[in-house]
Amino acid sequence: MKPLHVATVVASLLALAAAVSPAGAVTFDATNTASNTPGGRRFDQAVGLGYAKRVLSDASTFIWSTFNQRSPAGRKPVDAVTLVVEDIGGVAFTSGNGIHLSARYVGGYSGDVKTEVTGVLYHEATHVWQWNGQGRANGGLIEGIADYVRLKAGYAPGHWVKPGQGDRWDQGYDVTARFLDYCDSLRPGFVAQLNAKMKDGYSDDFFAQILGKGVQQLWQDYKKKYGG
Ligand SMILES: [Zn+2]
Repeated sequence: MKPLHVATVVASLLALAAAVSPAGAVTFDATNTASNTPGGRRFDQAVGLGYAKRVLSDASTFIWSTFNQRSPAGRKPVDAVTLVVEDIGGVAFTSGNGIHLSARYVGGYSGDVKTEVTGVLYHEATHVWQWNGQGRANGGLIEGIADYVRLKAGYAPGHWVKPGQGDRWDQGYDVTARFLDYCDSLRPGFVAQLNAKMKDGYSDDFFAQILGKGVQQLWQDYKKKYGG
């Protein structure tokens, strides 16, 4: 082989490698280890692995946008997001970049299970990508940010609390998601800024640093706005 040809082959191989694994690309994968259970069968029939993978990809793009992370440099260094549908209790949980969805929950859900699973995946995918203050962040806030993303994506279930409801700002889930939506309305991009600050640690004072008011004062203002 003449040197020119060797160079051509090498260039072709490099181009192929780049096409297969572009820098910063994230892969999405889904498996169902409960296909032999009623819930697993319902997942395959009503949701499907192909759809679930698309949701993981769409949700990740949505989360990066919500967190204002335009380039991979600002994101958590995750190169794969995986979903496993399993014969477990509960609804779902996320450990690292792995999302585990309960087939029993899918089997027992009454209503539009495809939309419900989509919403659950937006919540869990947020856990993959959000910063947690090096493990020191308020747990209610972590869950609130995950449900805030689900809310903004248009997958808030009908049974959620209405705006203004709840007892504490860090009650978590829907209560904290509604409160964060209020905070973001005061300063669009607030949740993105809050998440960015949570990369290296955590303090409730982040609310005051971004919005000029302490979180307890913000909660009181929020309750007042809705007559609470
Ligand atoms: Zn969660």
